[in-house]
Amino acid sequence: MKKNLPLIILLCTFFIFSFQSKKIVKSSKADNPNVTAGVALTFDDTFVNEWYDTDKQLRKYSWKATFCVSEINTLNSSEIAKLLALQKEGNEIAGHGFNHYDAKKFVAQYGIDAYLNQEIDPMLALMNFYSLNVTSFAYPFGFRNAIIDAALLKKFKIIRATTYGAEAPYEQNCYYNNTRVLYGIGMDTTHPSFSTAYLKKLLNYTREHHKILILFGHKTVNKKAPANYETEMKTLKLICNFVKQNNMKFYTLSELSKSKSSPFLK
Ligand SMILES: [Zn+2]
Repeated sequence: MKKNLPLIILLCTFFIFSFQSKKIVKSSKADNPNVTAGVALTFDDTFVNEWYDTDKQLRKYSWKATFCVSEINTLNSSEIAKLLALQKEGNEIAGHGFNHYDAKKFVAQYGIDAYLNQEIDPMLALMNFYSLNVTSFAYPFGFRNAIIDAALLKKFKIIRATTYGAEAPYEQNCYYNNTRVLYGIGMDTTHPSFSTAYLKKLLNYTREHHKILILFGHKTVNKKAPANYETEMKTLKLICNFVKQNNMKFYTLSELSKSKSSPFLK
């Protein structure tokens, strides 16, 4: 054992240094001090009435969000009016599929042209008809592949998929990454990756490393025991308070696209 001691010390030192240098390279490469750290909140599906009420309650925090709407043809005129009001307030309205198809499965079966014809083009036509300015897209279920990404990036400035897991915040990929395909992490209470403690860790990391955290939820609710696909108001208030107290800001998805407003081009 004694004989091996110098070797063990050498190996330990090597391990510690290689681990640290990896960490330093990773964070320094990703950090951008010119970026105002922030949060991009996104909500999926058709919960327009709930989103509208939530917007009224959270306006005092100067919040904004991106509402990714599916099945636009099923909404009534009052819901369309609420979407227009949300858009006017500075929120973004994005696409989430005309039929809410699983893109990967549909394309594997019918091809990319059929997908665009049935899922994307009628959605854009109707949303544009309603004067909803749609330049971003969120994948239903987060299911995607590179072929669909390439086709959609011809029609949208930026697209959002999903990510899971509860790894250390520096290993997560739920931040704006200077590309046009982003990965959000769930904030619905029953989402497998969600806990308040983990959300706080992600927010702290976001603040310290000048990141922009991408989150996704569905129906916004005030009740205490939420069902699946429900984001609690207390979660949103926690995020709003954190953003306000730390001089961070809210971003919409299109603000993150490579345009003049991209924080990474400053
Ligand atoms: Zn959805």
